[in-house]
Amino acid sequence: MKHYSVFAVAREALRQHTGWDRAWAKAEPKKKYDVIIVGAGGHGLATAYYLGKNHGIRNVAILEKGWLGGGNTGRNTTIIRSNYLQDPSAAIYEKSRSLYETLSQDLNYNIMFSPRGVMMLAQTQHEIRGYQRTAHANGLQGVETAFIGPDKVKELCPIINISGPRYPVLGALWQPRGGTARHDAVAWGYARACSAMGMDIIQQCEVTGIRRDAGKVVGVDTTKGPIDCDKLALVTAGHIGVMANMAGFRLPVESLALQALVSEPIKPVMDVVVMANTVHGYMSQSDKGEMVIGGGTDGFNNYTQRGSFHHIEETVRALVETFPMISRLKMLRQWGGIVDMTGDRSPILSKTPVEGIFVNCGWGTGGFKAIPGSGWAMAELMAKGASPLTEEFSMWRFREGKFIDESVAAGVAH
Ligand SMILES: Cc1cc2nc3c(=O)[nH]c(=O)nc-3n(C[C@H](O)[C@H](O)[C@H](O)COP(=O)(O)OP(=O)(O)OC[C@H]3O[C@@H](n4cnc5c(N)ncnc54)[C@H](O)[C@@H]3O)c2cc1C
Repeated sequence: MKHYSVFAVAREALRQHTGWDRAWAKAEPKKKYDVIIVGAGGHGLATAYYLGKNHGIRNVAILEKGWLGGGNTGRNTTIIRSNYLQDPSAAIYEKSRSLYETLSQDLNYNIMFSPRGVMMLAQTQHEIRGYQRTAHANGLQGVETAFIGPDKVKELCPIINISGPRYPVLGALWQPRGGTARHDAVAWGYARACSAMGMDIIQQCEVTGIRRDAGKVVGVDTTKGPIDCDKLALVTAGHIGVMANMAGFRLPVESLALQALVSEPIKPVMDVVVMANTVHGYMSQSDKGEMVIGGGTDGFNNYTQRGSFHHIEETVRALVETFPMISRLKMLRQWGGIVDMTGDRSPILSKTPVEGIFVNCGWGTGGFKAIPGSGWAMAELMAKGASPLTEEFSMWRFREGKFIDESVAAGVAH
């Protein structure tokens, strides 16, 4: 694999960009792999990458029914933060955020990480108490956050109206090293690095069945034929229920459409990310100038993978009070993804009742931020049989009542 550098760009500029290699190789399935990962979203690709990089396991195939990064990874609003309440969550999300800091150098691929700061607005007395509590918890967890007052909110984001009639801004939970990254680039960067390690990324290859023998996985059936494996990771976000069904067990996960929209591009007006739980909307500005706006999930389970007009109306109406200037913008496009929601709003990274099968799912509306940390932890779980970062996230916590309640941290879809 060629190293991307300023010298490479200059050299290619002189020869009409004819010397670039494909970022990742096109692969056809082999008969057998040590590990198969189903789903070439960020979590599947990151799991493969850290299996190779940290544990030397490189006979790996990543199977994708559509195109790489075409699921939620390429559809999200790219917010990265780690200001969660519970210790196990803070540990994995902060691991992830810290990996994002150097991911471009690590992958030799510019993922455009922009730690511009994330604030979660407090617009009720109840939220003030909730976010102050989270700020204290974060202090104990070593996660840098602070509860700030309305004047500081206005200073950091001048386009906010802090004295709205219904929900004035009373303060915010502020994480200065939270931010955004380019979502496609995260998938592409991991894919390129996996391919360079000799792993096979096989697109247009849907897994249609999971073969087991005496309680142990032996392979998968796919639209490109059967493939054998010793270990199997199911990393298919909103389609995890379908995969679990193929493997013969059930997961406490619901699949829902979550949507977002962007405005026409405008000059820079906002250099932080703002989330507003009470009115239920959030906004940031992309490098292209579009205002990136996220809404809520549908109120019913579905696999539609597209937006709906009533949500746009609700979300925009909610945000206009806090950001009056957006009322003059035109919408450019909207889209949706299928997210995988657990009851306690925390993920599942776990062994399963079938030996050799692992699941990584339940990231719901907020798994983009977790991609590097989740991949790191999942690879450790698969390679060594245990990881300190996944210990509390087993699928059996629902049976045992050991919930990791993050309903406040995950209050607004993000
Ligand atoms: C509108 C929206 C906004 C969001 N905003 C944020 C945000 O701001 N910040 C944040 O942290 N998170 C956000 N999220 C959540 C985040 O996008 C997801 O949690 C994350 O991308 C999940 O990644 P993944 O790799 O698990 O899943 P995906 O990227 O969905 O990848 C799963 C892959 O599995 C493939 N697959 C499914 N079934 C099969 C099969 N049978 N065979 C082969 N392949 C299969 C799919 O095609 C897909 O490519 C948002 C999500 C949406 C939809």
